[in-house]
Amino acid sequence: MTADAKSSAVAKTPPRRPDIKSLTRDELLAQFKVWEAPQYRVDQLLAWLYDRRATGWESMSNLPKPLRELLAQTYGLGALALVTQQGAGDRTKKFLWRLEDGHLIETVLIPANPALYGDPSDRHTLCVSTQVGCAYGCQFCASGLQGWKRNLRPEEIVEQVLAVERWQGSRTAAPANEESGDPRQAGSADFPSAGSRISNPPTPGGADRLIDNLVIMGMGEPLANYEALMKALRILNASWGGKIGARKITLSTSGLAPQIRRLAEEPEQFRLALSLHGANDWVRNRLMPVNRKYPLAELMAALEYYREKKGRMITLEFILIAGVNDALEQARLLAVIARKLHARVNLIPYNQVEDFSWERPTEAKQEAFLKVLLDRQVMATLRREKGGDIDAACGQLRLKTERARKVTPHVSEGGTPRRPD
Ligand code: SAH
Ligand code: SF4
Repeated sequence: MTADAKSSAVAKTPPRRPDIKSLTRDELLAQFKVWEAPQYRVDQLLAWLYDRRATGWESMSNLPKPLRELLAQTYGLGALALVTQQGAGDRTKKFLWRLEDGHLIETVLIPANPALYGDPSDRHTLCVSTQVGCAYGCQFCASGLQGWKRNLRPEEIVEQVLAVERWQGSRTAAPANEESGDPRQAGSADFPSAGSRISNPPTPGGADRLIDNLVIMGMGEPLANYEALMKALRILNASWGGKIGARKITLSTSGLAPQIRRLAEEPEQFRLALSLHGANDWVRNRLMPVNRKYPLAELMAALEYYREKKGRMITLEFILIAGVNDALEQARLLAVIARKLHARVNLIPYNQVEDFSWERPTEAKQEAFLKVLLDRQVMATLRREKGGDIDAACGQLRLKTERARKVTPHVSEGGTPRRPD
């Protein structure tokens, strides 16, 4: 295509309408004021969006028709399209969604597990994606294998929560056809306690939510999509929106030091997890290219700053890979780092990804590594679940699906996606 033809093709594309779920209550109030619509209509609209998880304007029966029409002309009301849903033995559910432009993203629903990020009162944790693919290319992660395609918009992050709750609600409301993958035809529930309430009118205050714990650990590097992520988290956290407490939201980063400092300035008390995976620069460089840009000393300084500003405990994630980072010397260095940062440590046995030849250490080795930490009074846990159930969150389902279907992800006008950072 010539440059001219290309620019005229671009010119013909109508501008995207903002999606209604990318707006805060204050933004909607300002818009309704311009329209001279009463403010209580905003709260009615928000109840449709976040309590009833509506997917069509027509269903918003208590809003006057002219207002609904105005909304429909001005805003999009997108919903994620389910491609596949897989349930694992431990009842972890993986969802693969297709976005408007054909890209695929993953979301994983994990039943209550206090040892993970939540506490014993948590019902379900949802692991959400923030980007299509990832630019950071860590040498153990499926998400980075096909590079970075684009950032998710706020509503695409928010929708992952709503779409899973909608899916669960419809399963409870209309039992049939278990593996169809179609939320409208889905089958019997195995989350009866929370799910059965979802199809009913919601109780104010969000007591009926299926998901009360969020981990931003799906596909992508959250802090490389900072603005959209913060907006989405504010919507999910708001009393008029997702109603998920800030302390129940954990953000995981591969270590973007400047953005960690920026996060420290935010008013919300989100939790922070740092994917460490190497306790010195040599090991970390081997696994995580981001470490060349922000080496450990710089990262540690940013984390200390974060901890001082927030007064919150950080979690260090450490995947155990045989012969790469499982030496007891690494455990000793990790203990020094954890103590300095007053951080807790999550040890995660490496999950096999086809493209990498790594293996997880034996259980005895994993336990020996843990013992070094515990002996040094570091708060540490070792994930003992059978492999593949939870960490397959990280881009593996999408990768397999795209390879199996030979889907070439659509690249928008403007050419090759580039590294965002
Ligand atoms: N980009 C962010 C968040 C997404 S990755 C980050 O890197 O923190 C979420 C977590 O899954 C990270 O701790 C990551 O290191 C881990 N992970 C990725 N691939 C994995 C694998 N094959 N086995 C175990 N954990 C993995
Ligand atoms: Fe990206 Fe995180 Fe995977 Fe690294 S571990 S490639 S930063 S998603």
